[in-house]
Amino acid sequence: MPTVATMLMLDRLAQKRSDEAFIKSQLESPSARVLLFADLKPVVRSNADRTESKIAWFSPAELAEFKLPVADTLFLGSDANAVPHFALAVTEHRTRHVPGAVEKLRPIVDLRSLAMQGSMPPEELSLCGMARALAQWHENARHCGHCGGQTRVKDGGWKRRCWACGLEWFPRVDPVVIMLITDGERCLLAHEHRYGDKMYSSLAGFIEPGEDIAHAVRREVFEETGIKVGEVTFQDSQPWPFPHSLMLGCIGRAETTELTVDTTELADARWFSRTEARQMLDRTHPDGLHAPGKQAIANLLIRRFVDGT
Ligand SMILES: [Zn+2]
Repeated sequence: MPTVATMLMLDRLAQKRSDEAFIKSQLESPSARVLLFADLKPVVRSNADRTESKIAWFSPAELAEFKLPVADTLFLGSDANAVPHFALAVTEHRTRHVPGAVEKLRPIVDLRSLAMQGSMPPEELSLCGMARALAQWHENARHCGHCGGQTRVKDGGWKRRCWACGLEWFPRVDPVVIMLITDGERCLLAHEHRYGDKMYSSLAGFIEPGEDIAHAVRREVFEETGIKVGEVTFQDSQPWPFPHSLMLGCIGRAETTELTVDTTELADARWFSRTEARQMLDRTHPDGLHAPGKQAIANLLIRRFVDGT
């Protein structure tokens, strides 16, 4: 996140993460800034109608004043002006006890909503996505998957080490294929039960162990719609921090067209003409059907089909 080309505004300085003195010096820098999450929702500053939101940056000293655990900050990297950037994730409950919390530590906004609304600048959204994915991994990696011992944060938040058996654990990324299937004239789009409105999007699914991208595309499409897919071409990728996926965008060529929709997975799946797909992108479809917005890689895939590129 956001759309496709990841906007790397920070140098992650990965080669320096294991240097504890360096991380400490970055945190003590007068210019250091911290992005705060409460229940994995970033604290933002918004305009009155909330059409524009920006990250509410805090200094480590401010967070210490709020009695928040500054030592648990995650090092994100440095920008072009050598300003160190950190993230800190705490529970919403913990922020409630900060004096003046309502003015200082609100609003907190669900990151998916910020992405959907397009109210946050793309480079800030990208940064929030990176930090959220990392913070959520920490939430779920407190114990060693091997021996059950407690793990401790290392390398500025980019590693955890088991206190009991010494095994090291690294932030995980889950690869997901997302594919627009076409028979040449039409594209296959699906409506999932969870969408709750008239949105249709491309099919998607997790890659399983032992699969390559093309195999995962063919398996998922066949399982969900009964369509056999031939040629698969990779198009582009996009980090998607819910919780920590990497979307691998593909276009696949259908070898069959008769649909057998798996209704436990999908509410509906249909073939749409180029004209209809364009209307869904433009939100002018006569039945009110629409495609995902520009923040989603599905939008790019559908657009490439519509434009014939
Ligand atoms: Zn262990």
